[in-house]
Amino acid sequence: MTSTLALLGGVPAVTASGPHFEWPPIDGTTRSKVAAQLDAAVSIPGRAGIVAELEDGLQTYFGVRHAVTTSSGTAALHALYSAVRIKPGDEVIVPAWTFHATASPLFHFRAVPVLCETGPDGNIDPNRVEELITPRTRALMVTHLWGRPADVAALAEIAQVHGLELLEDGSHAHGASVQGQKVGTFGIASAFSLNGPKPLSGGEGGFVLTDDDDTYYRVLTFAHCNKRCRSEIPQGHPLARYAVTGSGLKLRIHPLAAALAVDQLGRLDGYLAGRAEIARRLTERFSRVPGLEVVPVNDGVVPSWYGLTLTYRPDELGGLPIERFQQALLAEGAVEFDRPGSTRPLHELPLYQNPDLLFPGHPHHHRQYSPGAFPVAEHAYRHTIKLPVWHREQDLALAEQYVRAAVKVSDHHEELL
Ligand SMILES: *Cc1c(COP(=O)(O)O)cnc(C)c1O
Repeated sequence: MTSTLALLGGVPAVTASGPHFEWPPIDGTTRSKVAAQLDAAVSIPGRAGIVAELEDGLQTYFGVRHAVTTSSGTAALHALYSAVRIKPGDEVIVPAWTFHATASPLFHFRAVPVLCETGPDGNIDPNRVEELITPRTRALMVTHLWGRPADVAALAEIAQVHGLELLEDGSHAHGASVQGQKVGTFGIASAFSLNGPKPLSGGEGGFVLTDDDDTYYRVLTFAHCNKRCRSEIPQGHPLARYAVTGSGLKLRIHPLAAALAVDQLGRLDGYLAGRAEIARRLTERFSRVPGLEVVPVNDGVVPSWYGLTLTYRPDELGGLPIERFQQALLAEGAVEFDRPGSTRPLHELPLYQNPDLLFPGHPHHHRQYSPGAFPVAEHAYRHTIKLPVWHREQDLALAEQYVRAAVKVSDHHEELL
């Protein structure tokens, strides 16, 4: 006889107490590298030392000509929009479901984020982009949600046909690829976060990637006034004379964060390979659990597995609400079963409904959204249950306990109704 649900007094399926997932992985080598940076330099105004090492490493890893680090992913996105010359009144098509910072910097340019319906996997739906294009549309911004690459081939085609810049927010997807090409290299430029839980982490930080010299100079001018602008923007370039002030902002990464990120970058491919293996096993197991549906991965697509997302199917469990299902999983000790929080449909956020209070006179009037405007994104958001993906072989036993917790709750769902 199977044990009863932990929520109803039974024995939990997961034995070790949580948390069961910590990121980034920090060991003795990481500690000594970051400690060594304390002695080397804690402020680096130029492209030197650990900052140069990180940017060189990113350029090699992604195969791009320029990587510019920033204080955060949000700052990288802000610099990216400036670099591609987003102007007041410009429209940028963004996924309706993403972390808000993918699009929120646009408000600071008095530009208009135009939300686009997603597919069931949460990525922007290429079939819904063209209906949104107007004479004011300048760019198409793509998030690779939870590290699963969007349909970049189709999106690049649309961008090309309509003369739009294709931009990427790779913050969930460091090292993910499509047909062997890394996410972040499909458009003129891309932005990434190095924040705490991201696949590549410096604790805090971000970066912009581009092959285009002019975009690179504009990112520098936006985010790195003075020394870097003076040494990296060629004399005679129209931006060179702005070096001392840049744009008036200063968005540098901290050298200790850069040291952490350098350490992690050397391990990234190992992390991704380990995650892919555990994700493969989990996917296989969860696909047989009534109430849960795994989101398929297309051929040629390699995710970073920032999260393993499952679609909850209440219809397979007598209509059991997702809240109750998750509560039962947590009671089983499977505490990493999570539902998306701040990464949510943007049209439900006050900034997107009514930006005027923060940005008086913002020209958003022609884009008003009501609940239900993006049924696919909203449904996916409300029915997603996700897990972080472990990367070490010794985590397999724990991952297996998580599967058993889900099987148990699914098998006994009638007791929860
Ligand atoms: C984390 C994140 C950001 C913002 O990065 P920060 O480093 O936290 O500023 C932007 N976009 C996405 C998709 C993110 O997940």
